[in-house]
Formats: sequence, structure tokens, C-alpha cells
Amino acid sequence: MVLRELTALELGAAIKKGEVSVKEAAQAALDSLSAQDKALNAFITVTGEQALDRAEKLQDGAKDAQSPLYGVPMAIKDNICTRGVKTSCASKILGDFAPPYDATVAGKLANAGAVSLGKLNMDEFAMGSTSETSFYGPVKNPWALDRVPGGSSGGAAAAVAAGIGWYAIGSDTGGSIRQPASYCGVTGMKPTYGTVSRYGLIAYASSLDQIGPLGRDAADCAAILDVLQGRDPKDGTSLDGQYGTLLNGLTGDVRGLKIGLPVDCYGDGLDEEVKAAVLAVADVLKARGAEVVELPFPVMEYVVPAYYIIAAAEASSNLSRFDGVKYGWRAQEYEGLHDLYCKTRTQGFGSEVKQRILLGTFALSSGYYDAYYRKALQVKAVIKDAFDKAFQQCGLLLTPVAPTTAPKLGESLCDPLQMYLSDVYTVPVNLAGLPGLSMPCGFDSKGLPIGAQLIGPHFGEGTLLNAAHGFQSDTGYHKRRPGENVRRDAHRASLQKGGEPA
Ligand code: GLN
Repeated sequence: MVLRELTALELGAAIKKGEVSVKEAAQAALDSLSAQDKALNAFITVTGEQALDRAEKLQDGAKDAQSPLYGVPMAIKDNICTRGVKTSCASKILGDFAPPYDATVAGKLANAGAVSLGKLNMDEFAMGSTSETSFYGPVKNPWALDRVPGGSSGGAAAAVAAGIGWYAIGSDTGGSIRQPASYCGVTGMKPTYGTVSRYGLIAYASSLDQIGPLGRDAADCAAILDVLQGRDPKDGTSLDGQYGTLLNGLTGDVRGLKIGLPVDCYGDGLDEEVKAAVLAVADVLKARGAEVVELPFPVMEYVVPAYYIIAAAEASSNLSRFDGVKYGWRAQEYEGLHDLYCKTRTQGFGSEVKQRILLGTFALSSGYYDAYYRKALQVKAVIKDAFDKAFQQCGLLLTPVAPTTAPKLGESLCDPLQMYLSDVYTVPVNLAGLPGLSMPCGFDSKGLPIGAQLIGPHFGEGTLLNAAHGFQSDTGYHKRRPGENVRRDAHRASLQKGGEPA
């Protein structure tokens, strides 16, 4: 059995049957990590010894494990607190901060028998779309080392794509799970706002942040979400979505489901190869019995400006707690308290983070609040209305995840406005609090993965995962691994047929 080729659920089943020991799985993941992570830089902290110790302890319980993911090695984005394990948000300002408590999700994963390999690299404070703004250096895309893995959960997507662990936990404020999943050819999901507790997630923009899974396919994501979701008394915005067991709901049956294609998402700026691959998803789902309808979605030009005002405003407030007194790193030399704050923040934050703090502080300042922040909130309500209207006509929406495949390293940061605009398909989903899923749907002529986004109504996770599962039952894009020869001709032929044979 080649462990690397198994999904998280398949590995979990093999562990339960005793075909693979928990330690063998952990060792295989750590071997893969040492072979590849020098090049990828997907991890900030590796907890190898702890993982092996834990694997040994878990072995006895494997036979009677409740969770289908028991014993499966995975990793956690570095903005999620893990007790006693450095949690840096990829920022200098947190130094070697080791939280005295676990995030709710970290506790839930531990109870389900997860084996954590460590903490994943990301954009500093989850601000970015490329994973290049990390204090710990950029993450590389396993499909092409001169390209970005996307961001901000770039370490998570790169690790899963490279077969370092079987799944990862990321966070998504404006696309940070879905977009790297798309650039790295894995499946990633942002749940409905409130589905997963944010307790212990270091806040970027609290009204938009959600934790979610990155995995090898939709079934893995369903199983992970089954572990993560649920109301948490420690997070007043969390709720009980009454999802039942999402994994058990996966039949792949989409007969009668109406899939909406928002025509405004397929216009200018969208790469032709990406467009063709995403539209081919509609054909596959149609062949399974879904109905495909085009509909207007006339708010796309407002989504990026509204998102960046709201996200920056919340970030400027959330990040005020990092002052060199309470957490992490402190400037070496200072004169008095004000100077301590000033030097610590000046030297501790990177330039992207400072830019957002300045923008957010400006948008919230008394003379501009109405013109920017209040206006952005009004636009947010209009965007939510547009989704409500769309979901009166269909059950799910199908859009691209990003306008292009993964850009080259260094290309995006020199043109930040262009980088912000590339978030156009993912940010409206956070503004409306909806669930969104990114799944591999093809490769461009350079051999880079393309992702398609499915968006559901609030609490539509079951329908969303089921449609993705149906698509993945008929296609094999999600099974491709970097390093394998991407057969472009076969791909082109499969596009014409509307999908690649499983
Ligand atoms: N790229 C977006 C931003 O920089 C989204 C990031 C995220 O989802 N955390 O804000």
C-alpha cells in the first residue's frame, strides 16, 4: 500500500483495520516532510517527536476509534492557537509565543485522534493572497517551485498537495482556504459563518474569519468538518448548524439540483483556460442530472473595495493588542511606554500588515467613517441581497476561484492592487457569510492546477459537499499529484468531453 496515494479517510480506515500503524503513518508523513520542506517552506514549526510519541499512545485506541480520521497525520495553520506550541501568525511580532491554551478546533481534533505534524506557514496575520508576506519566508507551490501556492493558507495547501500529512486546517477571511486550494490542486472549504468556533483563532477580521479544512477530496473535507463544527460557548458567534454527519450524506446524487452560473463572474479579466475548465464542471454535473441556469449577479465591481475596507478596519482594531507588552516579541531598546509601543509595532509588523492597519485606521477615523466604513457596510448588505436573489433561483452557484492559475513568486507584491483584485470571486462569499468550496477541475497549458468554486446558501454545506463529491466521482483531477507527468493532450481531450475520466 502506498500511503501517500490514500485519502485521509482511506488511511483512517487502514489504521482502524490494523493494516497500517499510527506510527507508520506519522513516520511516512515526517519522511515526506524532511524530503520536501526545505524546498517548499510550508512549515514554520515541526513537532516531529511529539507526533511520534502521540502516534504510539494512540495505537491502542485505533481498533475502537469513533472518528474515521483517527490516527491520521495532519497540520494546523500558524494562526490557530496550540497549547505549548509556538503560534506566530508568521509575524515577527509574536516571536516565540506559545499559547497557554488550545483553540477549540485544536481540542476537537485532538479528541478525534488527529496527529499534528506542526504549524503551517502563511501570509503574516493571514493578510495576502500568495503566502509571500511571512516573516519566515515565502512558501513555494509544489507544482512549480517558482510559483506561489496562493494565500494566506499557502503552507496548508502546499503541504496537502505535496503529501506532507493527509489534511490541514486553515482559515478563510476572504478566500484564504479556497484560493490556495485552487492554486495547489487540493479541495478546500470555508464553512457558513459561525459553523466552526473561532475561539483561539488569532483574529484578522472577526466578522469574516472562518476556520475550515483543506484535504484531498470533498469526502475528506466532510469528515474534517464533522469534527470541527458545532456551537462553542467560548465563541458567541458560533452556532449549531444541525448538519448531522456530513460524511454520511455524500451520495453524489445531484438530480434536480439547480446550479447557477452568475454571468458577471465570467467576464473580463478571467483567463480563458480557467474559464473553460470551470464551465466544464457544469457539464459534468449536468450529466449527473443537475440543471444549469445562467443568472445575473450585478455586484461584482463592488465586492473587492467593500471587502478591503471592512477587513482592514477590523484588522486595525484587532491588531492593536500587539504592543510588546502582552505577547511575544518586544523591541530591544526604547525610552518609555509610548516608545516601546511604537518601536515594537514598527519593527514587529511587516509592510503589508502596516499598510492594512493604516488603511483601516483611516477608514474608521471620524471624518471618513461615513464615507468609507459605513458605506462598505451598506455595500455588504447589497451583496448579501444579490446572493439571496440568486438562491431563490438555484441551489448552488458555480464560479472560478481566482481569475488565473498560480502567479510567479515576486510578481504579485509589486502590484498590490492587482493582487487585491484577484480576490474578486472569493471575498463576496465571506461578506455574505456563506459556505464556499474550491475543488480541482483541470490544468492549464503550463500544467498548473485550476480550481472551481461552488457556493451554497447559509447552512448549505451538505448540498455543497455532495455536489463536489459527485463531480469527483466522475473526474480524476483531484487525484493528480505534483511531480506526476501532466498529460496535456489527455486533459484537452477530456475538457471537450466535459470531464476527465476517474
Ligand atoms: N487575500 C485576502 C486578504 O488579503 C484574503 C485573506 C484571507 O482570507 N485571510 O485579505
